[in-house]
Amino acid sequence: MQDIKNFIGGKLQNPIDGSWLDNYNPAKGEVYSRIPASNSKDVEQAVEEAKNAFPVWSQFTIEQRSKTLHEIADKIEENLIAFAEAESLDNGKPLSLALAIDIPRAISNFRFYAQAITQFASKSHETVGTNSINFTLKKPLGIVGCISPWNLPLYLFSWKIAPALAAGNCVVAKPSEVTPMTAYLLSEICKETSLPEGVLNIVHGTGPDTGQAIVEHPQIKAISFTGGTKTGEMIARTAAPMFKKLSLELGGKNPNLIFADCDYDKMLQTTIKSSFANQGQICLCGSRIFVEESMYEQFKTDFVAEVKKLKVGPPSEASSNLGALVSKEHLEKVYKYIQDAPQQDATILCGGNKVEVEDHEQGYYLEPTVIEVKSNRCALNQQEIFGPVVTLMPFSSEKEALALANDVRYGLSATVWTNDLNRTMRLSNQLEAGIVWVNTWLNRDLRTPFGGVKDSGVGREGGFEALEFFTEPKNICIQY
Ligand code: NAD
Repeated sequence: MQDIKNFIGGKLQNPIDGSWLDNYNPAKGEVYSRIPASNSKDVEQAVEEAKNAFPVWSQFTIEQRSKTLHEIADKIEENLIAFAEAESLDNGKPLSLALAIDIPRAISNFRFYAQAITQFASKSHETVGTNSINFTLKKPLGIVGCISPWNLPLYLFSWKIAPALAAGNCVVAKPSEVTPMTAYLLSEICKETSLPEGVLNIVHGTGPDTGQAIVEHPQIKAISFTGGTKTGEMIARTAAPMFKKLSLELGGKNPNLIFADCDYDKMLQTTIKSSFANQGQICLCGSRIFVEESMYEQFKTDFVAEVKKLKVGPPSEASSNLGALVSKEHLEKVYKYIQDAPQQDATILCGGNKVEVEDHEQGYYLEPTVIEVKSNRCALNQQEIFGPVVTLMPFSSEKEALALANDVRYGLSATVWTNDLNRTMRLSNQLEAGIVWVNTWLNRDLRTPFGGVKDSGVGREGGFEALEFFTEPKNICIQY
């Protein structure tokens, strides 16, 4: 059985106290590796190493930093298949998805910030009339903490690490303990690049032990976190009184508004993806589908027919549209929502059952499930399920659609299907979401701000926003 190691001060090492956690292959429900159950001692060592490395890394020229990030991207690319296989094995997602989305996007994250940092300029302001000039430096913060979830493991881990490093910071990072493998592979390849020892430290372990130790460490100046809203609350409670910079990317319950004037075929195919890609475990999945009354019955029939064609199977098989859910605990959580549906006056239109996959009988498989609801106030529509479960509900007017979409504590993304330009503009303005997609979904340009409103988070990632987050502006005023 493989042991995953911490990456501290450029070395791969066992946890200081010798405690380990089991790491599961969700497709088979079997333990297949061990990960360090690190605690505050490991985090302390990582912080010391980061502190020693900071004077070196922050003085690297922009070109040197950029070159190092490109080297990391190149090394991941050289090992694309091994990374994708590891991601699929660790997470349960189809290998085809890891090959097409997760790992290429992790490569793009490093490449994007390798380039973005070369364009991230200081500003100056001439104060005419007082013979003064102001210039604003963008200083790296020092040591920053990056904490990521299990659903898009390397993709989201690198989305934080790449801008943090590009901006000249040293990093203490923790991937999810549920999916630690590709972060470990990343640490192995970093050893083969020009990244100086101690610049990137990866400490594995649970949220309450390792994560909490990162958040409460006084020398860690900022926390970039992606995960659940409840965890975000806990992190804010610890970090805010310490005046740390905080970027919180949290949960979602995204609406998908479908109007009768849309391009029907494109909408139907995309809605299948926005409902069930990655087993519905993407924070941007459109889990509440609202459909204009006049085409509701037709959509319901066609959508359910398409969903029934989706194949649940081993992640390694090319024919599998859905793989396994990430853990037994998560499977049971999602399944409970389905079991409780009848008590909420909701009707299961298709799916709803666990799936026993041949030769993978202990794996965590669930049918893609479509549930018709009568009210947006039910738990199925108000709570984040984060699995292959979507709800359907008709609406009779644009006003009602907007009210339903906004009637939730979350505000991450929203999708609108319509060919009416004025409606597009009205809804885009009024939807309470950080990201609105019109006639598309998961269409990403890395230069754009990424993040949510309401209980979906605070701050924005992406583009220069992340570089702003990972730097502190210092204004200097000179009179001549
Ligand atoms: P989670 O909140 O349980 O864990 C996320 C990370 O936080 C893990 O690394 C975990 O170990 C760590 N953690 C847990 N408790 C901690 C604590 N007290 N202190 C510090 N760290 C702690 O989330 P998850 O179950 O891994 O991921 C699913 C959630 O992530 C969903 O709610 C989903 O919507 C959200 N998510 C949001 C986005 C976004 O961009 N907004 C993207 C992906 C996932």
